[in-house]
Amino acid sequence: MTARYAVFGHPVAHSLSPRIHAAFARQLGVDMEYTAHDAAPEDFAAALHTFGAIGGLGANVTLPHKERAVALCSQLSDRAKRAGAVNTLTRAGALWHGDNTDGVGLLRDITLNLGRAIAGSRVLLLGAGGAARGVLPPLVDSGPAALTIANRTARRAEELADLFQKVQGGSYRELSGRAFDLVINATSSGLENQAPPLPAGVFAPEALAYDMVYGRDTPFMAVARAAGAEACDGTGMLVEQAAESFLLWRGMRPETAPVLAALRLG
Ligand code: NAP
Repeated sequence: MTARYAVFGHPVAHSLSPRIHAAFARQLGVDMEYTAHDAAPEDFAAALHTFGAIGGLGANVTLPHKERAVALCSQLSDRAKRAGAVNTLTRAGALWHGDNTDGVGLLRDITLNLGRAIAGSRVLLLGAGGAARGVLPPLVDSGPAALTIANRTARRAEELADLFQKVQGGSYRELSGRAFDLVINATSSGLENQAPPLPAGVFAPEALAYDMVYGRDTPFMAVARAAGAEACDGTGMLVEQAAESFLLWRGMRPETAPVLAALRLG
């Protein structure tokens, strides 16, 4: 019987996840379908319930549902608990088990695919939504020299930073006069064709600017390149977090390199 998986988001039409999981399934000979479901925040719980009732085995959760999904899980992995955000649901009987593969996906892309070290680096994380929450615990565990969160709504960055030791949080203005080796944009500003309001000098020489938004050259990436940084989008993270979800669901890890190369070709 064909195994059913899905992604829930709002909007979700732009999602590359169906294409990525179809490629993984072909690669590993798994009979599965993976569909995209647009659910407004108020409809998400009912949509997930219906998906479970028709036999759905697992789902990814994307913007803006990652924090809301926590409440719909009967069990959470440690990394989902620490993040307070869920991007991967696995059905366990009539209930859902929640996990978060965003952090490991980002780390694998930065360290394995891009060859950058996080340990000992000055890291700046932009944003305090579900994506920022998801990647924060593994970033903390990687041993950066300093880890700072900045967000448009500064209070959210402060509250998020307070959950971890040795993490600072605040506004963009407070970044003045500071430089970072790795700047991760976990805001959705790129989807609005905007860049977070970064003060000049934020990118250290040879910094990596990583935008989690994928499939487009964002204003953040343009600002970073103009400041001399290397800039990349979040396609690699997307493929790596998907591979980690696939591993949770099917017990097999797909090869990511050919899928990433095919996506980059368009
Ligand atoms: P979210 O929970 O809705 O949070 C959005 C964040 O972006 C908030 O911190 C918000 O600040 C900030 N923001 C929105 N518009 C902004 C603007 N114009 N200028 C500055 N800040 C702005 O969304 P999310 O789930 O965290 O997702 C964020 C982004 O990451 C999305 O674009 C998503 O596609 C991407 N993502 C990519 C991957 C991947 O695998 N590549 C994985 C996860 C997420 P306020 O708090 O002030 O509203």
